This record gives sequence, C-alpha cells and structure tokens, in this order.
Amino acid sequence: MNLHTPIGEGGKLYKSYEKRLEKLGITTFKDFLYHLPSRYEDFSLVSPIGQLQEGEQVTIQGIVTAITNSFTKSGKRLQKATITDTTGSISIIWFNQPFIAKTIAKGDRVSLAGRVGSFTNQLVLESPEYELLPEGAQPLHTGRLIPIYPETKGVSSKWLRRQAYKILQQSTQGLIEHLPSSIMDKYDFLPIKETFEHIHFPSSLESAAKARERLAFDELFLLQLAAKQRKKQWKQETKSHAFTIASHEKAIDAFWNALPFEPTNAQQRAIHEIIADITKPEPMNRLLEGDVGSGKTVVAAFGMYVAHINGFQSVLMAPTEILAQQHYKTINNLLSPLGVTVGLAIGSKKSSVPNAQFSILIGTHAVLSKGIAFEKLGFVVIDEQHRFGVEQRAILSEKGKNPHVLTMTATPIPRTVALTLYGDLDVSYLDEMPKGRKRVKTWLVPQMKRDNAYDWIKKELIGTDSQAFIICPLIEESENLQTVKAAAKEFERLQKDVYPNLKLGLLHGRLKAKEKDIVLEQFKERAFDILVATPVVEVGIDIPNATIIVIEASDRFGLSQLHQLRGRVGRGDKQSYCLLFTESSNMQTFNRLKSLESIYFGPELAELDLKLRGSGDIYGTKQHGFRELKIASFTDIPLIEKAKKEALDLFPHLDQYPLLQEKIAEITQKRIAQN
Ligand code: ADP
Ligand code: MG
Repeated sequence: MNLHTPIGEGGKLYKSYEKRLEKLGITTFKDFLYHLPSRYEDFSLVSPIGQLQEGEQVTIQGIVTAITNSFTKSGKRLQKATITDTTGSISIIWFNQPFIAKTIAKGDRVSLAGRVGSFTNQLVLESPEYELLPEGAQPLHTGRLIPIYPETKGVSSKWLRRQAYKILQQSTQGLIEHLPSSIMDKYDFLPIKETFEHIHFPSSLESAAKARERLAFDELFLLQLAAKQRKKQWKQETKSHAFTIASHEKAIDAFWNALPFEPTNAQQRAIHEIIADITKPEPMNRLLEGDVGSGKTVVAAFGMYVAHINGFQSVLMAPTEILAQQHYKTINNLLSPLGVTVGLAIGSKKSSVPNAQFSILIGTHAVLSKGIAFEKLGFVVIDEQHRFGVEQRAILSEKGKNPHVLTMTATPIPRTVALTLYGDLDVSYLDEMPKGRKRVKTWLVPQMKRDNAYDWIKKELIGTDSQAFIICPLIEESENLQTVKAAAKEFERLQKDVYPNLKLGLLHGRLKAKEKDIVLEQFKERAFDILVATPVVEVGIDIPNATIIVIEASDRFGLSQLHQLRGRVGRGDKQSYCLLFTESSNMQTFNRLKSLESIYFGPELAELDLKLRGSGDIYGTKQHGFRELKIASFTDIPLIEKAKKEALDLFPHLDQYPLLQEKIAEITQKRIAQN
C-alpha cells in the first residue's frame, strides 16, 4: 500500500469505508493528508486531577479505578468511570456509548480530554475524548491541539485523525517535494512532509497556519500553471484559420450600418479584442463578461458575421430553448438582410434549414447532436454556459476544425477569480450599459429617513403609475420557515401601518411554482402596487412597470447580490430607483453599501465583496457551478499575486520539473472528470 493506492484496494476495512470516504473526496490514501482540518480543539493543557477547575478545557491522564455501564432514570444508557492520578480522582460520564466499557477496563492507563463540569458539587468530565495511553506512549486524540475534520456519516474526526497519523508514521516515502527549491527558499515554505505534520498535528496554531499557507500557495500555483498549459495547448496544437477583415471592408461597413444603435465603447473594445484574436492563425478562447443588458449578443453576432464573410459557419449555443429562440430572432433580424442564412436547432425542432445551407446555427445543446454536420465550422459562441464545458468544446471542435470560441456570461466573476480559475481564457469586459438606458438610481437610506422614504415611494407610485418591490431581510441562505414568517409579518405591517390605501401582494420561495406564477402574473397585471418578496425570488422576474425596489436590511447582503436584486427594476423606459434600507450605523457597513450608489458593474462589485467581506464564498458562484478552491481563498489576493508571478516565471521552464508536470496532469484529469 502506498499513497496512490485507491481506498478500495487498501484491504477489507478500507473497502467498507470506500463509499463514505468518496463523499469527502477521499479516493486514495494520499487524500487523507489533503483532507485538512476545519479547526483544532485545544486539549494541550494537561492538568493534574487535583488541580482541575470547573470550566477548564483540559487533558487528564491516570488509571481507571472504576468503570460501569448503567441506566439513567429515563432509561438512557450511561457509562461511568473514575480516573485517578497521584493528585486525586475524578468522575467521568458518557451517554449511550456502551462500547466504551469494552474498550477501557479497570486498571488501564488512559488519557481523557474535555471540559470540566460539576454535578452535585463534584467535578466531572462529561463525554470526554478518550484513548488508552500505556506508559511512555504519545497521545493522539488528547493532550495536544486536536484536528477536527469535515466529517460524514460513519466517518468521525477521530477515525480520520488516526488515518492521517498512520500515513505520516508509515508511508511518507511517496511524499516528494514538488516545489522548486528556489521558491521554497524565497518564501521560507515548510517541506511537504513537515507541512502535513504541522497541519494535522501542529505544535501551535501558528505552525498550522504556516503549513496551510504553503498548501494554499501550492493550490494556486498549480492552478495557474495548469491554466497556462491549457492555454499553450489550445494555441499551439490546434491550428485555426485566420480570418481577414481588411479585404472585406464593404461587408464590415454593412454590418455597422445595419445596427439599429451606436455600439458602446465597451462593445467596440470587445469587438477589437475579438478581431485581434480571430485574425491570428490560432484559435481564440475568450470569455465575454457583462451584466444582463450590457449587449453581449451584438458582439457575438459580429464575430459570427466575420466568420460568414470569410466563408465559415458559426454556431451559437444557448442554455434554454427560450433563450435560443430569442437569440435566433435578434440575430436573424440583424444578419439576414446582410445575406446571412440563420438556422434554429432546438430539442423539439431539428434544424429548420438543411445542414450545409446555413451560415449560422443557433440552438440549445441540440446543436451538438450527431445529425447536424457542419461543412466549415469556424466560430462558436457559448452563452451562459456556466461550466465552460471542456467536453462540449471538444465535440464542437471535432465538428469544425478548431473553431474560435467565445463564451459569454453575466455571472459577476471578480477579476481575481477569473485570473485564478480561468487563466487560460482571455477576458473581455462589457463594463458599460448602452446609452439611453437609465441607471437604477440607488440610495442608501438610514433608519431615520425610513418614514420619509415610505412617503416618497407612495407619491412616486401614484404619480408615475408604477409598481414597487419590497425585499424582506435575508435571514438564512436558504429559504426556511423563519424567512417566510418574517416576510408574512412584514407584509402585514406594511399593509396595515404604512400603506393602508395601497394594494400589496406577497411572494416567497415556499410557494409552489404554480402559486408563484399566479402572484407574478397578478403583479404584472397590476393587481397590486407593491410586491413584498423574500430575497430568494430574485432571479428571472421581469416586470417592466416596476420602477422601485426597496431592500430591507441591505447590510446582510453581498454587493453583487444587491446589484442583481436591483436589476429587477429599470427594465422599462421610466426612471427606476433602488432604496437600500439599513438599521446599521456602522461606518464600514455604510461605506460598503454606499459603493452601490456609484458602481454599476457586477464584476467590480463582486471584487469589492471579496476585499471587504473577506468571506470565502462569492455570491452566485456556487449555483453557477464554479469550482471552489479547496485550501486557498479568493480573498487572499497577495497570495494569488505571488502564485501568479511564480507561475509566470516558471512556466517557460516547466519541462525541467517532472513532479510539477505530474501534479498539473492530476489537476487536468480532475477538471475533465468534473465537466
Ligand atoms: P446581454 O448582454 O444581456 O445578452 P443583449 O445583447 O440581449 O444583452 O442586449 C440587451 C438589449 O440592449 C437588446 O435589446 C439590444 O438590442 C440592446 N442593445 C445592445 N447594445 C446596444 C447599444 N449599444 N445601444 C442601444 N441598445 C443596445
Ligand atoms: Mg444575453
């Protein structure tokens, strides 16, 4: 058995644990080392029994002088023991753990750790950690900083701890330092074996932190290298066709003339970045990032049009049939007058145009189906494909001869994150909304101005004949009963005390899909003036007549989350408003929320979230299937920068580092498996 042995091949015991460990991401023995503690319990204070104080968290070591199994008055099983050292004795109780009386016997020397309590004026240790401790042995689960791991049913921290310990004792031959010594020296990193020793069995929290930093660097550094390698392979091994622009001046002019509007500066910039890419003989791999409404479609249309005038076909893949149909309409309207044949392929309806005749095919994943063949595929657009599908790209690449690929997303990915996870993609940002689009005016409303705000809203609603959302506080990430109750209460308060003469509706995530639709339909038809809603209902609501959104307890949200919420209004022609209510008087909170008054670009707000909130979770990334970092944090920008710099310096010499190459291959394999 070595570090690379799969768990299932480690013998009968491990075989029985295989499925459970898989849930924790542990598939080989090495993974026990990479399964890092989420925290440590401090049992390092070893105290003589005679000196114990109530409330102390301690380890005691002594001889078992009594141990029994009994029952409580209510019939629960109870294990009682007495432990004695040279300074005194103490009672121990455990509940419902009858096997303890089989593991520990009278006369054994044991080590126990827990918090000292008292019962009828006597000190006791209740449900302590325990282990046998023969004279001269070292304790593992007591008497030190004890690692506590992410657990799953049937896999306890105690068990995991023993595995990590065993491996560090017996099988570290396979642990060879993979970082170049120049980097090790420069940052004073611990060697890999010590790193694991310090992280699982630290002598102090500082040494654990130092070890963790090294592993975090490892993770970021390897991700960067892997991305660089993907980029190099994409650019080198797959040759595309360079399109030309210069010889098609007339056709390009026709495109600009056909546009019903002036492109924004951001759109022009993105288009130029795309031109620079597609006129090179290597395939483009670009991410186009911009908020909903920033005008990504036209940018994509331009790329597909250039492919067309160069004699190549394009395909645009949308995540749903509705979006595919929308795209089809927009692009067909724009490009068919210019002589481009546009086809639609959705699940229910195969391509409406025989294969070889269309220049542009728009559809859902149906565009990948075997029946559809491309004569000359040169440009691929993937819209809102959250997993930037390696596999899908491969299928499409087979259909064409390494087409240029443009991926589009409205998910606010902070630049730091894009840089870490998607270093292989070039990114264009649409950080500007089309002209004439009225910005949702945003105000932070402190507690003392709340009543004024309520009055203002009423006047505005009546004066402009529009509608409002009032979003209730975010209580939990998921919509639980408490959230719903709070929303219902707020709904009643507003109806009774604030707006007795207006009509209010209530929407929350606990309603069935049908019921939600009914409420929204009523709102659309103006059955109410104000819709009181829980935060979970934020996505996919389109009520053009709503011009005001009030967000209660806005301090509980992340900035990019608030940004998405305010996107619920400003969909019609009227000026719209977002009012951020807060009862907080904390200056930092205030300043954080104030930034929404001046920043209107999702990724920038997401980046600010990272810097200010410091929490590892970036709003919206989980449900969009972004891979999370396992050890490092996106908020650790200095470390990300370090890893980026070192990867940049080392990459040209990667062939001299076979161990790093091995690690990168592992990452790449996992990535493919995940897609
Ligand atoms: P998204 O980035 O969300 O995909 P779309 O491409 O769907 O945005 O564009 C949103 C709307 O804005 C469309 O109706 C589109 O015609 C319009 N639009 C795009 N660019 C401009 C522009 N430069 N000026 C005015 N309207 C524009
Ligand atoms: Mg779009």
